[in-house]
Amino acid sequence: MDDWLGGGEQCGDEGCAIPDVPPDAAEARSKKVSADKLPGDENSSAEPRQAILPGATIGVLGGGQLGRMLAHAGGRMGYRFVTLDPTPDSPCGQTARQIVAKYGDRDAARQLAKQSDVITYEFENVDADVAAMLEAESYVPQGSALLYTTQHRLREKRALEAAGARVAPYAEIKSREDLLAAVQRLGLPAVLKTATGGYDGKGQWVLRAEADAESAWSEASAAGVELVLEQFVPFVKELSVIAARRPSGEIRTFPPAENVHVRNILHLSIVPARISDSVRAEAERLALSIAESLGVVGLIAVEMFLTEDGTLYVNELAPRPHNSGHYTMDACRTSQFEQHVRAICDLPLGDTSLLTPVVMVNVLGEHMERLMRWLPVCDEEAEKLGVEPKLHLYGKAEAKTGRKMGHLNVLAPQSGAALAWISQSDIWKDGQS
Ligand code: AMP
Repeated sequence: MDDWLGGGEQCGDEGCAIPDVPPDAAEARSKKVSADKLPGDENSSAEPRQAILPGATIGVLGGGQLGRMLAHAGGRMGYRFVTLDPTPDSPCGQTARQIVAKYGDRDAARQLAKQSDVITYEFENVDADVAAMLEAESYVPQGSALLYTTQHRLREKRALEAAGARVAPYAEIKSREDLLAAVQRLGLPAVLKTATGGYDGKGQWVLRAEADAESAWSEASAAGVELVLEQFVPFVKELSVIAARRPSGEIRTFPPAENVHVRNILHLSIVPARISDSVRAEAERLALSIAESLGVVGLIAVEMFLTEDGTLYVNELAPRPHNSGHYTMDACRTSQFEQHVRAICDLPLGDTSLLTPVVMVNVLGEHMERLMRWLPVCDEEAEKLGVEPKLHLYGKAEAKTGRKMGHLNVLAPQSGAALAWISQSDIWKDGQS
């Protein structure tokens, strides 16, 4: 049995100091332009749909790299940003005002609401109480219904099935007996997952033999959360498609990314994905129908498994910008971050066309030293291959192993050249690639 559970980046515990209170957002609120409510608006908040224009303040729950890149994209368009995060000088806090407080702190969330014309989040595990309060006291176009669905693997799977998507056969596990029965019914290998709170493979156990069920149960049940057992999908590729939808119902998808994970952490996103035209079209169609069926506002990332016979299974959803969409920052006409701002502010969505082949490669804590050695040196190999590695770092102070510190978008004449550059580079020479 592989135990994928490990220590991750937890919310810090730095206290709840709220620094200087910036001007109330009421003035900027006057910049909202009313528009008629259109069909397909069910999931947006009860307030009539409004376009939020530059000059307004976007509040971001969570101050990590996704919030930071959102603030860069929206800041360029003239929006202001405020973020709530427990870690002072967070990646987003370096580019926005920051309220330093725990995510579950209602008073701090109220401050965020007061200072914002529109609120979004950069992670899906938003406390339900806080989400409800923000919805009541501010404008949260993404709504809390989508969060409620995507916070829980079982609810998410049911919503996916209702949207007509295929998911790996699964079973709800409430007891040891449930697990043993599900192993008999679904067969092995299978993956036991916590229904809530897992990411980057944390909270997951692969069961290869019946004996694994006992040890997985004792570890998983200690987590004290609901569990789900999934049949193991013998995939040939992992893909993801990011779709954006605005309150009026306009939807656009980004080109599918082919994702390679190492130790359950995304390592590469290769675009264009090396798949047939029919799989590409089906992956995009699936993302569109899921976004429509869930009444998404903002972005939704749809992670999929592709099997040998061309079948697509949806693995999970993320209702926010996604690591596998970082390639769009340098390789598409519109980045996922600009698109998210456009969607939540109800501006027309941007063109998602791919401008160049690209491979996005993550930079983890253990890669930082070698990255810093590479950076000042003229890279002849890159010149020879005709590739252009574009660096994005997130401003994190401590380079812990496995922590996402940044990424490179390696632009290339073909993705093969970008992959060749990555594999000859020293940066990832630690057994990771
Ligand atoms: P998740 O947290 O669900 O995204 O899972 C993390 C990674 O574990 C995925 O990207 C896959 O590589 C692998 N994985 C998760 N569920 C399954 C499954 N049912 N079958 C095969 N691989 C899986």
